[in-house]
Amino acid sequence: MSSAAVQMDLDQDYPEIRDSVRRICEGFPGEYWREQDAKSEYPHAFVDALTEAGYLAALIPEEYGGAGLPIRAASVILETIHAAGSSAAACHAQMYTMGTVLRHGSEEQKRKYLPKIATGELRLQAFGVSEPTTGTDTTQLKTRAVREGDGYRVNGQKIWTSRALQSDLMLLLARTTPPDEVQKRTQGISVFIVDLREAKDNGVEIRPIDTMINHNTNEVFIENLFVPAENLVGEEGKGFRYILDGMNAERVLIASEALGDARYFIERGVAYANERVVFGAPIGKNQGIQFPIARAHAETEAAELVIRKAAALFDNGRDCGAEANMAKMLASEAAWHAAEACFQTFGGFAFAREYDIERKWRECRLMQTAPISTNLILAYVAQHVLGLPRSY
Ligand SMILES: Cc1cc2nc3c(=O)[nH]c(=O)nc-3n(C[C@H](O)[C@H](O)[C@H](O)COP(=O)(O)OP(=O)(O)OC[C@H]3O[C@@H](n4cnc5c(N)ncnc54)[C@H](O)[C@@H]3O)c2cc1C
Repeated sequence: MSSAAVQMDLDQDYPEIRDSVRRICEGFPGEYWREQDAKSEYPHAFVDALTEAGYLAALIPEEYGGAGLPIRAASVILETIHAAGSSAAACHAQMYTMGTVLRHGSEEQKRKYLPKIATGELRLQAFGVSEPTTGTDTTQLKTRAVREGDGYRVNGQKIWTSRALQSDLMLLLARTTPPDEVQKRTQGISVFIVDLREAKDNGVEIRPIDTMINHNTNEVFIENLFVPAENLVGEEGKGFRYILDGMNAERVLIASEALGDARYFIERGVAYANERVVFGAPIGKNQGIQFPIARAHAETEAAELVIRKAAALFDNGRDCGAEANMAKMLASEAAWHAAEACFQTFGGFAFAREYDIERKWRECRLMQTAPISTNLILAYVAQHVLGLPRSY
């Protein structure tokens, strides 16, 4: 960990990236997203546009064909997408899931996968952690990988594995040593790269889950899947630590999406409150309309500062676990309060799909639950920041 002083930018940083991402999003108006949502379709055209512009390879180092940008730049990309009314949920994992391979993979794995992920030739955007009977208690996961010859035989089940049907590769977390043979439950868990192109219908069955948002998420059934030993990431048994390393990046980036959502709702709410005239005056003249929006704005500003702090610490190689978690919690709550204020401001029209408010409102609710729920963040802060006893 570096101990150098960390500087934090307060301006509209990366203005060229913001402009360019905004221009891409202009090609995908509300109509496009409504259609994808109604059909539960994957937004291929939008993902292709971002891939071609190189934005999904923002965090891949230049030597592996990416842009080699800091996490703050990736944060700006995702915030801008969401503030424009679009959604990066279909592809955000392509940005950060590769971080596990980058930090812990062998040079051979990096050379094999990262350049192709950077061009979009290979999609690594499925992350199989959650299981139906395990919940947030990840170390209790039941999926087992047993050494067999020059590989591993894997059996188990995952749930909520988003984008598995639109991904060539999946990072899979599985137990390689039974829990009663390790000192700590965090040990004995390993990370594998599963080539879904070969594994689909050959040990892996993927079943989409019908959800209230268009998220392309799935159940994944794994039966006697053979994974070559060369697809093990890092050392056997250390996978839990590897994925924890990547979670801070994920938290900062999801927080940035929530921040973009909050900005979207505030902008739409203010515009409507100024133009909608009822009882002879714009509804925004009423404190009952303007105060919730103003409060959401204040919360959004505060969340943005914590996001910037977390990103600055991350980019300087400093520990940012507390900041990344708090950023995700504060931004997801600011977004939800902004969504509620905007929804109420739009009156009955909020329910009409053509206004996009109900779709964005549904979508932003997820951020208080995934990738980690608010309670678990509060438990982390209570225990690790404040020194309170572990509550679970
Ligand atoms: C649309 C969607 C996409 C997802 N994508 C992925 C993905 O790509 N890959 C993946 O691996 N997972 C994914 N997830 C899973 C997601 O990360 C989990 O749903 C989330 O972490 C919560 O886990 P759970 O649903 O098992 O809830 P549980 O762990 O069962 O918790 C249920 C509730 O109880 C609370 N709770 C549990 N324990 C405690 C405690 N000790 N103290 C206080 N409260 C507690 C939780 O906060 C939560 O509110 C996705 C989920 C959704 C809905």
